[in-house]
Amino acid sequence: MKKGKLFVVSGPSGVGKDTIVGEYLKNNKGILSISATTRKPRDGEKDGKDYYFLTKEEFEDWIKKDDFLEYAVYNDNYYGTPKSKIFENLEKGIDVFLIIEVNGAIQIKNKISESILIFVLPPSMEELEKRIKNRNLDSEEVINNRLKIARDEIKLSSKYDYVVTNNKIEDTVKKLKMIIDNEKN
Ligand code: 5GP
Repeated sequence: MKKGKLFVVSGPSGVGKDTIVGEYLKNNKGILSISATTRKPRDGEKDGKDYYFLTKEEFEDWIKKDDFLEYAVYNDNYYGTPKSKIFENLEKGIDVFLIIEVNGAIQIKNKISESILIFVLPPSMEELEKRIKNRNLDSEEVINNRLKIARDEIKLSSKYDYVVTNNKIEDTVKKLKMIIDNEKN
């Protein structure tokens, strides 16, 4: 049987990467890996669904036990991909999707060279700022920090196998499907 593929999707905060992968997975096979983080849950986020919300001590304990495929610090919090089930799913022929920041994505590529890295770009920095502000999730300070991180992240997009600009969600989902179909054949 054909093995599943590991797709790693990155892009600045607010670019729409969760929506794009979520829309793709509504109509196509594959599973989204649930990450662990030490950041506090936002309104409506559920433990074990959006993230595994851990304390710093718990997260560091997982690191010691070698339970992460990759992890990174982003905006003063830990984020990591639990190893469990990823290889099991790939062996079963199921595609696995990670939506993670750039340092983690590069760690994955170094460990698993067959993984496919896809970077989602905003149409412009102005548009990204507008989207982050419209989400109304963050304070001014956090927003400015996210925009600074975004500029640094975009510089690393040259390390990705594919770069897609998210102008319109439906079009970006189509582009994502084309990339995936192409990689699977
Ligand atoms: P947020 O706090 O907005 O949910 O996520 C902040 C950033 O962390 C996003 O770029 C998100 O993709 C990234 N992220 C989420 N989970 C992981 C993970 O498991 N590993 C890494 N390296 N980054 C992650």
